[in-house]
Amino acid sequence: MMKHTCEKRVYGSSMFVGPGHLHGVSAKYEHEGKWYCKTHHPPTVKAKANEESCKWRAERNAEDAARAKDAAIRKAEQRVLKVAMETAESSEELELDRACHALKALGWKES
Ligand SMILES: [Zn+2]
Repeated sequence: MMKHTCEKRVYGSSMFVGPGHLHGVSAKYEHEGKWYCKTHHPPTVKAKANEESCKWRAERNAEDAARAKDAAIRKAEQRVLKVAMETAESSEELELDRACHALKALGWKES
């Protein structure tokens, strides 16, 4: 059995971008007449890229959902707070009103 080597052209990470060289490691995956190692096998690369973009999208969706939930909670909190404050104000007024009536009943006059 003929031994194949990876035909993917790789470039160094240096500033100088030359013609690159063939990866050259033993290849086990054939694609459109060329041989690749697992890392460079195009369908694998594509599947991995898809998987990553799906993962990224899922994470983004989760983040968006969390943000929307936070916003909804904040909005609800503000609404409850507003109602609570209004209720507190009116009950305070009511208390004051009741206190005045009680004082008037005891003979206290408003000056
Ligand atoms: Zn390779």
